Amino acid sequence: MARIGISMEGVYVSVEENLACIRQSLQGYPVKIVAVTKNQSVDIMRAAIDAGITAIGENRVQEAQYKFTTLNRQVEWHLVGHLQTNKVRHAVKIFDLIHSVDSERLAAAIDRAAGQIGKRQDVLIQVNIGGEVQKFGIPPEETLALARVISQLPNIRLCGLMTIAPLYENPEDARPLFRRMYQLFQELKAVNLPNTDIQWLSMGMTNDYRVAVEEGANMVRIGTGIFGPRNY
Ligand SMILES: *Cc1c(COP(=O)(O)O)cnc(C)c1O
Repeated sequence: MARIGISMEGVYVSVEENLACIRQSLQGYPVKIVAVTKNQSVDIMRAAIDAGITAIGENRVQEAQYKFTTLNRQVEWHLVGHLQTNKVRHAVKIFDLIHSVDSERLAAAIDRAAGQIGKRQDVLIQVNIGGEVQKFGIPPEETLALARVISQLPNIRLCGLMTIAPLYENPEDARPLFRRMYQLFQELKAVNLPNTDIQWLSMGMTNDYRVAVEEGANMVRIGTGIFGPRNY
């Protein structure tokens, strides 16, 4: 969890210290940290960039658009939240990697919009590994079929898989799900689809990233652990 202190003005959080702790706990694992900055200010994002963060994650296109006008390409932009088809046109202009593709329809919309601006859009397939009804993501057993469809779209490049595990009080409970994700990731690599570059397994958030990396995640998405609690 984030280390949070109290200053004269109220609560403060040291982004640099928090990141140092997280990096310490990831030592020995080749993992890319995506700092999730939803509801965080551009100033706080700058602090994270100064502390060595190279990739930030947003979950709303509109919020990213506004922040992008200031920060531009100083950092990689990742869309970690659900993408509505009516926002795709804006999303492809900003995001280096879209983590949340979970239907043929969305993939086709991204392909079209990326083609219009002469871009090849990198994406991950979001898998609903816990089978939660309220969660976005495709069921694990449909993942390879969606990957095949995506591999035939010229303006989109599949780069791996993403999942959000159910929020368990004990992150150990997510371990079997992370393990299944890793197996699915290996299967996806093994089918060797054309026009893909399967390299990222994006799983693990503040409360469960340690378990996720032990089970093979090489990209973690951390918000609270770096920035402290979000004020909504
Ligand atoms: C908010 C969010 C995160 C980060 O969550 P924390 O628990 O604050 O680390 C990661 N992934 C997605 C998709 C998110 O929406």
